[in-house]
Amino acid sequence: MKIIDAHLHFEQGGYWDVIAEEAGHVNTVAHLADTYKEHNVVHGIVMGNKPITETDCEYPQHLSYCVGIGHQTFDFNRIEEQMPLLEEHLRRDTCVGIKFYPGYSYFYIYESRFDPIYELAEKYNKPVAVHTGLTATDTALLKYSHPMVLDDAAVRHPHVQFVMCHMGEPWFMDAVAVMMKNQNVAADLSGILAGKLPDEEAFYRKNAYFVEQLKGQLTILQDYLRFMFGTDWPLANYGDYINFTKHIVPEEAWEAVFYENAKRIYRPKELL
Ligand SMILES: [Zn+2]
Repeated sequence: MKIIDAHLHFEQGGYWDVIAEEAGHVNTVAHLADTYKEHNVVHGIVMGNKPITETDCEYPQHLSYCVGIGHQTFDFNRIEEQMPLLEEHLRRDTCVGIKFYPGYSYFYIYESRFDPIYELAEKYNKPVAVHTGLTATDTALLKYSHPMVLDDAAVRHPHVQFVMCHMGEPWFMDAVAVMMKNQNVAADLSGILAGKLPDEEAFYRKNAYFVEQLKGQLTILQDYLRFMFGTDWPLANYGDYINFTKHIVPEEAWEAVFYENAKRIYRPKELL
């Protein structure tokens, strides 16, 4: 089975190298290429962490990216001025969407000041991915990353395709409610595991309630065309993550969740 990783990060040094090692990986281009070969991952969607000014950013082969909008990459006091830069990204084939980082940055994605960003997403017909759920830093604020923020945004921008990253972890029920109501919201299943599981069986035993809850919420939506496999690389171990996703998604939906949905939503050029 071919796989698209619909959510990874591609940054080197410090924190990124440490979490890669904790996941049983090495944070290098060569190791990522080997890992992709090993698991038949044919493409990956990088959630950008580079400044918006880097309009010529390059990623290794088989990776596309979403241009990241958070306080470290974007100046929220100069939105209008940065629209030409955003447009420059969106014009590129390798840029397949926009990624918002609410929670880490203090803003609601539905604020009217962001309308120009959504206009560009619509113009270029590229999805808007949104961080939802828990965060990796204590200074983040969860009120901005609750899945419910997608409801307001999806209603305000009915022609924009949204991707709820991490399916609002651990607010899976809220995430599904938002998706039930808004057909223009999909979700990626990344970032739910971290590190390398020392003992997979023990993990599923210990976390039975959590895993069953997630699995149950997926069945409630009854629409596997709106969930995508993603790892949040280098946060989690690839093999573990594939097994985990197979555990929570019924086999008849694997083709859609592991490959087809990401191909349809992000439309990476090399796969079209
Ligand atoms: Zn991520």
